[in-house]
Amino acid sequence: MNASEFRRRGKEMVDYMANYMEGIEGRQVYPDVEPGYLRPLIPAAAPQEPDTFEDIINDVEKIIMPGVTHWHSPYFFAYFPTASSYPAMLADMLCGAIGCIGFSWAASPACTELETVMMDWLGKMLELPKAFLNEKAGEGGGVIQGSASEATLVALLAARTKVIHRLQAASPELTQAAIMEKLVAYSSDQMVATLGTTTCCSFDNLLEVGPICNKEDIWLHVDAAYAGSAFICPEFRHLLNGVEFADSFNFNPHKWLLVNFDCSAMWVKKRTDLTGAFRLDPTYLKHSHQDSGLITDYRHWQIPLGRRFRSLKMWFVFRMYGVKGLQAYIRKGSNKVNEALLQRINSAKKIHLVPCHLRDKFVLRFAICSRTVESAHVQRAWEHIKELAADVLRAERE
Ligand SMILES: *Cc1c(COP(=O)(O)O)cnc(C)c1O
Repeated sequence: MNASEFRRRGKEMVDYMANYMEGIEGRQVYPDVEPGYLRPLIPAAAPQEPDTFEDIINDVEKIIMPGVTHWHSPYFFAYFPTASSYPAMLADMLCGAIGCIGFSWAASPACTELETVMMDWLGKMLELPKAFLNEKAGEGGGVIQGSASEATLVALLAARTKVIHRLQAASPELTQAAIMEKLVAYSSDQMVATLGTTTCCSFDNLLEVGPICNKEDIWLHVDAAYAGSAFICPEFRHLLNGVEFADSFNFNPHKWLLVNFDCSAMWVKKRTDLTGAFRLDPTYLKHSHQDSGLITDYRHWQIPLGRRFRSLKMWFVFRMYGVKGLQAYIRKGSNKVNEALLQRINSAKKIHLVPCHLRDKFVLRFAICSRTVESAHVQRAWEHIKELAADVLRAERE
């Protein structure tokens, strides 16, 4: 494929993607396939002679799509949300074109510097304590990891290295192995300290856990993978109180902040805690600025060496939505929509509800009132409400 074919195919591909997104509601959300469905549909080995682009794109519809679970279908309610937006998809295309491996500042300065600034932008949206930000060459800073699991593992390894160094400084005769076998990590039955657990979105009380960790010199990592995006709204920010006690914190913009997978945002208060654990300096990776104290070499902040230009996705999304647009996305729907829904419900006269105001939210109250009400009535009422809600939302879109 040469550049001129790429131009043509690229435009066709964007059309295919836009059609996919626009028509996704019409696709069955979960595929009708059995394990092993795909192997008989494609050759047993790679072709010796090249196939054409047409062959491939036709096979996408014939072979791939029938086996896709459509995570972005409005009927997908499984696992947790995964983010998607057009600006992020476009940024990913550009990331593919630049195709750099940004393990050090010198390996692609823009890749490192945009990431540092985007992590500060995002940190400010969350009103993270200044100690986590990189601005003004503080001790803290943010890094994009591939997943929350990686961020948690990185925090755990950094905590382990830190405590080993501390104990060895006090008692040089202690070997690493002797220390390691005594180390303890505390967790609940859901993992580390979590704001919004995967199973039921429960919250640990950081204001209780945090001071104990600080007093006992225990590394506190806080995982808000799923719920964290909500903290950009001032009305939800209080749920993050206590993060000031944490040594590290992460959440996934790729779950709920319109930045396509993968983008797990992680901050630490002391970047030397990470670089102390992951430092890797063979001669061929050294560069003239590395000890200037002015730059970040992100390979010391993560497990892999290589890393993509993921901050482009954040930059495109943050600029094209603005903080207000991102907040509106989290809030999903205004009082106006609820008022319109209630009006439809009460003019259809099949069921009867009254509203209330909770703080500044217009809320529809559904109270089980009559002695003769059965679960079938509630279910019928719910079906009815869903139908009318779909009408309201359709009217909103038009
Ligand atoms: C989704 C989720 C994870 C796992 O996220 P990955 O980025 O896929 O590793 C971890 N913790 C919580 C609280 C989650 O919601």
